[in-house]
Amino acid sequence: MTGAPPICRACDVPIEDADDAVYVGHEPSNSGPGWAIWAHRAHVDLLEPDQAATRILARVLVARALSGE
Ligand SMILES: [Zn+2]
Repeated sequence: MTGAPPICRACDVPIEDADDAVYVGHEPSNSGPGWAIWAHRAHVDLLEPDQAATRILARVLVARALSGE
């Protein structure tokens, strides 16, 4: 591994042990290529709210479709 260790998205603590780092996904950026999202193996479950955000977005899209536009 090169440079600084990745930061856990769930607890904002550097993940010192590479074996404990789980790649969660990629976050796009308006000003660059974006960055990878990492989390401790034990903290991956804490990132579930992303699924709630997806559900909310789906609800908005359905409501917009039903409004007859
Ligand atoms: Zn963590």
